Amino acid sequence: ERLANMIAAGEVVERPASIVKELVENSIDAKATEINIFIKENGLKEIRVVDNGIGMDNEDAKKAFLRHATSKIKTEFDLERIRTLGFRGEALAAILSVSRITLKTRQSNSEGFFVRYEDSKLIDEGTTSLNEGTEITVNDLFYNTPARLKYIKSEFSERAAIIDMFDRLALSNPTVRLSLTIDEKLVKETYGNNDYYSLMRQVYGNNVLKDLIVFEKEFQKIKIKGYLASPSVSRARKKDISLFVNGRYIMNYGLTQSIIDGYHSFLMVNRYPLAILLIEMDPVLLDVNVHPQKLEVKFANESLLKYHIELFVKESLMSRPH
Ligand code: ADP
Ligand code: MG
Repeated sequence: ERLANMIAAGEVVERPASIVKELVENSIDAKATEINIFIKENGLKEIRVVDNGIGMDNEDAKKAFLRHATSKIKTEFDLERIRTLGFRGEALAAILSVSRITLKTRQSNSEGFFVRYEDSKLIDEGTTSLNEGTEITVNDLFYNTPARLKYIKSEFSERAAIIDMFDRLALSNPTVRLSLTIDEKLVKETYGNNDYYSLMRQVYGNNVLKDLIVFEKEFQKIKIKGYLASPSVSRARKKDISLFVNGRYIMNYGLTQSIIDGYHSFLMVNRYPLAILLIEMDPVLLDVNVHPQKLEVKFANESLLKYHIELFVKESLMSRPH
């Protein structure tokens, strides 16, 4: 069982940034409206996520670390039309297998409760005081997998990966207040006021708002909202093209390419746009169950979707004021 969790850990929690993602998505599933993230030493010493969500009762707090413990799937029908972010019940078990965890949680009208795990064993539990919500602290990440620890330590990009992940989470949750503090320093925060202008400013900085193009289109009950930065704010990499489907950040090579193609005649060679596309569609047209990190999404009608996205981007760029 421990081994299975460690294998799962290799997929679900390959690096500190993926743990940040799993914890924050759990907070969002728990209806948190404010989530504060604290990182120490690139996440290897500590990752702490504090939310004001619905919390857990004592029993659920302990069960949360069991593999395939999920409170989120009730029926097969749910799986088809999945809207909550987590649905496999693997993340906490996997994180636990490669770290030491303290979980504190409190539901409304009840006392706070904590559990502390080391070497995947419960070593302490009891009552504690905290606000309504949940606080999960992950310490000493990969302490028992030296090869992985060494590999991550040799990477200079861990801090950047955490910030990138924060950006995605922030952009895909416009109604949630999020903050990121790294080594005691507040790095970024958002206001949860459901305003993409404000969000883009917090995430990308002021200059992105200049000449920003916003479009909203619809075809066959698929709603597409785009925030297109001016071609003059182009990037050297594709990573600032963000796709969201029903509020979830996704990756899809074809759709990303259709945005680039839409920009094509407006950009210099080897430059990529900064763009955000929000797609709302019936979840039955999606297949989200194709990757352990649940990022890669397939669409039933992908070529049609690509065609429209390229068209919408092109039209919006052509009709922008000069
Ligand atoms: P999943 O999210 O796929 O259900 P996880 O391993 O991420 O699986 O979490 C296991 C369970 O722990 C969740 O289903 C949920 O019941 C509970 N849980 C985890 N994080 C939180 C949180 N921040 N607030 C409330 N409940 C949580
Ligand atoms: Mg989860």
